[in-house]
Amino acid sequence: PPLHRQRHQFVIDFVKRNKPKKVVDLGCSECSLLQKLKFHREIELLVGVDIDGANIKKKMHGLAPMSTDYLQPSYDQLRIELYQGSVTQEDARLRGFDLVTSIELIEHLTLADVERFSEVVFGYMTPVAVIVSTPNSEFNPLFPRPAGFRHSDHKFEWTRAEFKSWALKVCLEYGYEVEFTGVGQAPRGQQERVGFCSQIGVFRWLGGRQHCNMLFGDDAEDVFSYTLLYSINY
Ligand code: SAM
Repeated sequence: PPLHRQRHQFVIDFVKRNKPKKVVDLGCSECSLLQKLKFHREIELLVGVDIDGANIKKKMHGLAPMSTDYLQPSYDQLRIELYQGSVTQEDARLRGFDLVTSIELIEHLTLADVERFSEVVFGYMTPVAVIVSTPNSEFNPLFPRPAGFRHSDHKFEWTRAEFKSWALKVCLEYGYEVEFTGVGQAPRGQQERVGFCSQIGVFRWLGGRQHCNMLFGDDAEDVFSYTLLYSINY
């Protein structure tokens, strides 16, 4: 299957195993991952965020229940919300989720904004788990095209070592652990050398940090910086 489908399937397999109740997809674009996740009954709140509101609006009405959905008894507890907003900004409605996904998003940010992303996602939203995917630049020489980034809007593409160094720093700073994997296999015999086409970090909150409790304390001012574009209850 095409790579974008493999990335989404990776998230779906994670959801099947871990059964998160509250899931947010950052950089949800035209909501294609959300469209697949809405069929997973354990999810009670499904949220999408993208800086590009026009992109969200293109297909958001496809998230509305179809008449047949109401025949499925356990659908009565799903709520979907879509926001226009930037992952570099905090919004109190995004705190305390079970899973945050960031699929092919960070490479569209400047490195300064990646720092903000880390603070917002791991330091402020403090979800139980985070899945981050980004291109692995070591794989690029296998593409039959000139050298350069895979997409003109990419601000960087990281090697496995660069991704790992960012991820481990995030873990130390915010109290997470991370496992590295990916999707998109290299041809036989080259996997070790170049790694996966898309590299993926699966982060899990270690818990017990004082920092986290402080953020949820009453003294913290709630910030609402995102604009709600769409919401629906099943
Ligand atoms: N995640 C989608 C998927 O898996 O099919 C597509 C990701 S697309 C390559 C990158 C998306 O990130 C775009 O929709 C873009 O608008 C969004 N984006 C870029 N910068 C952002 C930011 N600061 N905050 C939120 N979304 C952002």
